[in-house]
This record gives sequence, C-alpha cells and structure tokens, in this order.
Amino acid sequence: MTASLLESAIPGVQGLRPYAPGKPLSELEREYGITDAVKLASNENPLGPSESVLEALQGGFDELARYPDGNGFELKAALAERHGVSPEGITLGNGSNDVLEMVARAFLSPQSSAVFSAHAFAVYPIVTQAIGARSRVATAHNGSRGPMYGHDLDAMHGQIADDTRVVFIANPNNPTGTWLSADALRAFVESVPGDVVVVIDEAYFEYVAEADYPDTSRWIDEFPNLLVTRTFSKAYGLASLRIGYGISQPALADVLNRVRQPFNVNSFAQLAARAALDDRQHLARAIEVNRKGMAQLTAGLDELTLPYIPSAGNFISVDVGRDAGAVYEALLHEGVIVRPVDNYGMPGYLRISIGLEHENQRCLEALGKVLA
Ligand SMILES: *Cc1c(COP(=O)(O)O)cnc(C)c1O
Repeated sequence: MTASLLESAIPGVQGLRPYAPGKPLSELEREYGITDAVKLASNENPLGPSESVLEALQGGFDELARYPDGNGFELKAALAERHGVSPEGITLGNGSNDVLEMVARAFLSPQSSAVFSAHAFAVYPIVTQAIGARSRVATAHNGSRGPMYGHDLDAMHGQIADDTRVVFIANPNNPTGTWLSADALRAFVESVPGDVVVVIDEAYFEYVAEADYPDTSRWIDEFPNLLVTRTFSKAYGLASLRIGYGISQPALADVLNRVRQPFNVNSFAQLAARAALDDRQHLARAIEVNRKGMAQLTAGLDELTLPYIPSAGNFISVDVGRDAGAVYEALLHEGVIVRPVDNYGMPGYLRISIGLEHENQRCLEALGKVLA
C-alpha cells in the first residue's frame, strides 16, 4: 500500500502491525527443505479432532450451497445446556477472537479505554487499537507478590479510569501460562464498576487442573457485565474451523450480536463443535496427553537447567537465557517450530506448545543441541 493510503487509515490502525502467527509447517518445509518438521508453536491439539467430529463433518456437504444457521440454534442449545445458562446468553464467534472483537466494536471508541495486563494475549491490544481506543496496560507481577509475568489484579484495578469500558483478562494467560485463583478473580470482578465489561478469556479452561482455578461461567447470573469466552481451537482440536463463543447474561449477548457479522460461524464449524462437545473421551485423552507432555517437557527443561514459567495451559514459556530470536532460528534449522514472544515484552523467552511424546522429545533434543 502507498504511504498516502496508510495515512488515510484511522490513527489506531496506522500504528498496528499485523498479528504474527506461528510459522506454518508447510512454510518451514518449503523454505528449509525439511520434510519431518514438528510444529509446537500455536497451542494446537496434537491429537487433532475426534473421530466423531470427522464423521459429523461428512453431514455438512449436502448443505454446502446454503448459508449456515446464522443463529446457531442447535449449537447454542447444546452450549447453554452444558453451562446451565439460557441460549440467549451464548454468542457464537468465528473463533473466540471474533467475540473479543465484537466486544471492542460494541463497547470501545476513540473516547474510551480498555484495561489489560502487560504480557497478556496479543489480540486485546489489537482489537482495542483497531477501534482507536486507548489501551491502559497494567504492570504484571515481578515475582514478589504473584507469579512472575502474571496478571496483577491490583495493578489492573488501578488502571480502570472513568473512560474504561472493557477489561480483558486471560485465565490462564497466553503466553505466560499464569492463572488467577477463584478468590482473587472473584474479588476483582466484584470491584469493577457495573458499566465496565469484564471479559474473562478461558481459551485453555479444559486443560487447567489447579484446585484454586475457577469456572467463571458459573458467575454469569451474578454479574451482568461479565463475559466469559471459550474456544474449540485448543483442547477440542478444531483450530482450523474457527469457532469459539461467549457466555454472558442475554442483555450483554444482545449487544454483541448487534455487531456480529451475519453467518460468522460456518456450518462445518457448528456441526464439528456439537460433535466435539459430546465426545468427552477424546477431550479426556487430549487433557491426559497434555498432562504427560507437560511433565515430560518440564523434566527435560530442568535437565537443561532452563528456567520456565509454571503453566496451567498446553504450552510453556522458557527463558533461554540469551537472544531468543537466534535460538528460534536455530531450532527452525533443526525442524522444530516454536514461538518467539518478544512481541509480548518477553525477549528472552520462547513459548513451546505441548505436543505428542516424540514431538516433545524432538524439541528437547534440538534445544539441547542448539544451546550447547
Ligand atoms: C488461542 C487463544 C484464543 C483462541 O482463539 P480462537 O480465535 O478461539 O482460535 C483466545 N484467547 C487466548 C488467550 C488464546 O491463547
């Protein structure tokens, strides 16, 4: 684009840089001539989707020429039952990122601000800045009162100003893997003014085993300004189909649905999500593979004497103790794709997604070789 057209964009957009995704396997293989690369860069489910999802997808072809159910009737009914909320409180998104963007479009403007933590998920600043709204970024924990790099709820509360309309919280957060306890998070939600929407992003909910970790979807009845987001991209293994959702009281969902694109969730995604919800065995397998893989990776990192941030998700951020960009590049040459997180203000860290046993092994061996 010419410079003059960029100048025509709204100021927030001029300052944006496109989201940098994990490097696709096909790209690495094309560029480096490697054929057996492993990708541990986007927190995807290494098992893939369940068999029943693949079967359910077959049923989508007959309706390919039709628009999908723009209201997602059956999927919303299933999700409402699962969460014990009314179907009118479910907002379907093209990925949960779509729901995050709906929040920004519905509640933010150049005259208002959103609050989130340093090192929080990259989509919060993107959707905020794209609207031209101001980001109020709270300093993260330094390790003295909470986990290093974790959300500091006191600092976040301190950032809430008269112009604040949205607070974004990732629990657990990506890329840090840090999580907030039920007590702390509940006290925070209670302390937020009622005209500020609190978004609790639970993209990794299914993986979390920590006893003090809350299921905040159970708080919906009490807080009209609470929106909880979930996704099928991670533990359910449907990242490619793009489907996630919000859970809230119907009045908040009504606002979000006013800015939702018609037919934002395609019919394959709706079919797959319904089947995935019903396959509890596959979900349990995914959680177990993650638990074992996390133990394997942390044991290997301990052996390499590499510090990492304890993570409740399906990924772990590792302090490689030197220029992480160079380590990332060297790992690519070994056919291992991980994720540099310098764009998150963590230049010494690499984020590694938990993979299958042989993938984790490959990653650990490559790390050992590259750092030797
Ligand atoms: C991966 C991720 C999401 C999920 O995005 P989708 O659009 O649902 O694929 C949301 N929030 C966080 C913190 C994530 O890491």
